[in-house]
Amino acid sequence: MEYFKQAAPQPPSVNQEIRDTVSRILSDVEREGLVAVRRYSEQFDGHSPPSFRMSQEEIARVTSEVEDSVARAIDFSLEQVKGFAALQRRTLVDFEAETLPGVTIGQKQIPVNAVGAYIPGGRYPITAAPAMTIGVPKAAGVPRVVACAPVQRGTGRINPSQLYGIVQSGADEIYTIGGAQAMAAMAFGLEGSPPLEAVDMLVGAGNAYVAEAKRQLFGVVGIDLLAGPTEICILADDSADPELVAADLLAQAEHGVNSQSVLITTSRPLAEAVTREIERQLAGLPTADAAGASWRDYGEIILVESDEEMARVSDRVASEHLEVQTRDPDWFLARLTNYGSLFLGRNAAVAYADKGIGTNHVLPTSRAARYTGGLWVGKFIKTVTWQRVADAANATVAPPFITMADTEGMVGHADSMRLRLRGASGD
Ligand code: NAD
Repeated sequence: MEYFKQAAPQPPSVNQEIRDTVSRILSDVEREGLVAVRRYSEQFDGHSPPSFRMSQEEIARVTSEVEDSVARAIDFSLEQVKGFAALQRRTLVDFEAETLPGVTIGQKQIPVNAVGAYIPGGRYPITAAPAMTIGVPKAAGVPRVVACAPVQRGTGRINPSQLYGIVQSGADEIYTIGGAQAMAAMAFGLEGSPPLEAVDMLVGAGNAYVAEAKRQLFGVVGIDLLAGPTEICILADDSADPELVAADLLAQAEHGVNSQSVLITTSRPLAEAVTREIERQLAGLPTADAAGASWRDYGEIILVESDEEMARVSDRVASEHLEVQTRDPDWFLARLTNYGSLFLGRNAAVAYADKGIGTNHVLPTSRAARYTGGLWVGKFIKTVTWQRVADAANATVAPPFITMADTEGMVGHADSMRLRLRGASGD
């Protein structure tokens, strides 16, 4: 392989200062509750309402500003995402099996009881985010989903389109709290009337403070993923359209100055054409400040000799989003092993999935695709197991397990099983 254009190494995502700030916020909220949340909300967001929980009237007032066409688009996205989640849910089954005569063991799917979803603010108020982190747990059967979102500076309220998405996705409670203090409030609970009861799991993307809060709270609650800067990798041969390839690289680069966009290609002429196209498209792109900077620093083009080498390098990159714009995308579907989500053929744009074609857009970054997929309905469901043993089956299972317990010196275990064995044989 040869670098046609090589990216700079990514800076570390979290520094000691962010770690310390987040640690202080979390312990203050755990100790002081609402007082600390109010203090940090004032400090970072200039926001101190009488109640952080939004009332029905307030929700109705803000969402009434959403244009019909926007509302219909968000509804369409939500329908696709919840629809796919419902199909995936069907793959998670309860079953039981008699594995030995009289020994029946099984598994059962139980939704998490309460989920806290963080909906980030930021430069782009992502309107598909609520479908991914509220709609999907609802499709899983989670009884209670709490949403926290920061208010937009200067307006004192959540972005109306995002709020519409939060409501339509089925959030049971909505709070205007942002950052690490929101994560702490959901993980530890907050007093008030009514109080915010602590949740069992936190999901959703956000800035470095939000991500670090999730990392530090893991264990107190479950989490989905630790998302770093977003990424795209495109595999393309000489059949690819340079205009589409360049547009998709820039669409990812536009997310922020740290986004990573990689092209792996068997065609030097395509690499040259894409480079020219990127410059041409950047000249007319209103988000060129972020897209241009991120392409300059973290854009990469790698030349390879064959489809097999393209697949090998791609599996090493293990990108969050992986587009295949080659003659035979199905060969890659069968061959590739490391990616968050795969986009097959010229029409399968990452942007479709970002906005809600159906798959979840919360996906593994920073090479986490080597060991996990993205957020999905199954992350909100605990697959638990159970067992039942008939009297007569004690004679089969007790002797080997008593031997094991005796070997280990676990006398209590051995006794627990001997009692059953004796009971079953009627001694
Ligand atoms: P945000 O909602 O992530 O965070 C806003 C909060 O950050 C504020 O409420 C405040 O409490 C906190 N904060 C800000 N400055 C702070 C400081 N100095 N100390 C402590 N806390 C502080 O919104 P944002 O920061 O405006 O940006 C959105 C972020 O979400 C971006 O970083 C974007 O990249 C990220 N994002 C990531 C994905 C993904 O999939 N990886 C998706 C959407 C958004």
